[in-house]
Amino acid sequence: MKTQNTIDLLEEAKQRRKKIVALRQSDPKMTLQAIGNDKEVGLSRERVRQILNDEGLPSSGIDARRIIRYCIQCGKELKGKIKSFCNKDCISAYHNNTFVCEACGKTFTRPKSYNIRKGVLQSPIRFCNRKCLGAWMGRQNKKD
Ligand SMILES: [Zn+2]
Ligand SMILES: [Zn+2]
Repeated sequence: MKTQNTIDLLEEAKQRRKKIVALRQSDPKMTLQAIGNDKEVGLSRERVRQILNDEGLPSSGIDARRIIRYCIQCGKELKGKIKSFCNKDCISAYHNNTFVCEACGKTFTRPKSYNIRKGVLQSPIRFCNRKCLGAWMGRQNKKD
């Protein structure tokens, strides 16, 4: 009986540790108190600190304003208030794919979700609009 309990306790401690690590990784601002209060953790601040130290993770709730952030798109360091991109171009580049129209050679963008929405994930987008598609098909026909 005693052995069984010990195994359970060890397993519990392992799960708790995993949960603490997951909480810290998902939210670097979370305080030790908040982590300890999590219903799956239920430990004192001090115990949470020890576990985070063990795992090589920052123990104190980090002030998000002091974290250096980088533009998600181009990787440039961001200054000032919390944001994810350095400028509008990067926002647009992140959310859109850029294509070159095969008919007119113009570059154009489509939202990354576009292909998925249209259910044509495999086929690249080749023309900026229907007119160009029409023009291109007309040219193909002439070649025949
Ligand atoms: Zn950028
Ligand atoms: Zn075009």
